[in-house]
Amino acid sequence: MNEEVKKLADRLIAEHSLTEEGYEQLIRERDEEAAACLAEAAVNVRRRIYGNKVYVRGLIEIGNICKNDCLYCGIRRSNRNCERYRLTGDEIVSCAEEGYRLGFRTFVLQGGELPADTDEILCALVRRLKEAHPDCAVTLSLGERSRESYQKLREAGADRYLLRHETADPEHYKMLHPTEMSFENRMRCLRDLKDLGYQTGCGFMVGSPYQTPAHLAKDLKFIETFRPEMCGIGPFIPHHETPFAKEPAGSVELTCYLLSIIRLMLPNVLLPATTALGTMHQRGRELGILSGANVLMPNLSPVSVRKQYELYDNKICTGEESAQCIRCLESRINAIGYELSMERGDFRKEA
Ligand code: SAH
Repeated sequence: MNEEVKKLADRLIAEHSLTEEGYEQLIRERDEEAAACLAEAAVNVRRRIYGNKVYVRGLIEIGNICKNDCLYCGIRRSNRNCERYRLTGDEIVSCAEEGYRLGFRTFVLQGGELPADTDEILCALVRRLKEAHPDCAVTLSLGERSRESYQKLREAGADRYLLRHETADPEHYKMLHPTEMSFENRMRCLRDLKDLGYQTGCGFMVGSPYQTPAHLAKDLKFIETFRPEMCGIGPFIPHHETPFAKEPAGSVELTCYLLSIIRLMLPNVLLPATTALGTMHQRGRELGILSGANVLMPNLSPVSVRKQYELYDNKICTGEESAQCIRCLESRINAIGYELSMERGDFRKEA
């Protein structure tokens, strides 16, 4: 590790903050030694706050019908070869029921982006889940909606919302999205979510097309100042039916490095080792945990639709039953010295 990188690493560990230039240099000049140093510090910080617990969230992919056309995403509306589905309220409730029996206390409802007139359906769904399981947290990951919609969903009982910012650079944002989507609206959504009292998650893909270390430095600065309760990052993985089909995938190594930096910036943040990371490397999720992540999101969707929720190629865990998935994860996590926690696992403000 060169002198400059050593200084930057020490400063990040001590002050939880660097300048944007500092983040960029930390990324550009990284080496194995720097990664090991940051990972060790990140794991220590996480252990102090969360012990050796890794929180699990049951992911229910409620549908792949989407009005948006993000260039990277396999369920974008332009993909004519995507077989569309939408789970009924009863199907979603029974997935959650099964999850509850397996011990899950957080459900994440994720899906393609629905039209504005779906507020009532979604609110009814959230109310049903909260009534059936008042001891559980409901997290939504349903993309950009109006403030009014976010407000109604919050009043219906939703506790958390995941909306990755995707990139903190407005020009880069344009390269990843169709012209009708805007960076400004993305930021508006994130501000509204926080303002309405959701535990809010932002995040980005590592190695998305055209991404540079300068963009990543901006992402880190944005995360540092926005102070999300959750932060989802994972490698970009091309999907064969998108304009980015021929683009290279993001790296596991850089994703893990960034996980360590984010843990050091925001010691209390809930940070998943994502399915995309597990897709890029056989032990990707373990490597994520060993870099500072502390959340896993196993799939609770009906096995019959899992292959249809294909954001990127070769997604893992599309064949197993939920119970099998959780057993597999548990043995992987125990093998690296951690324990799965089935608690709600809310964000902890204080250390
Ligand atoms: N429609 C919702 C939820 C589904 S997409 C939304 O946009 O928030 C959830 C996340 O998957 C996106 O934020 C994106 O960062 C990630 N994603 C989409 N396509 C991907 C790809 N090809 N490789 C890796 N991650 C991808």
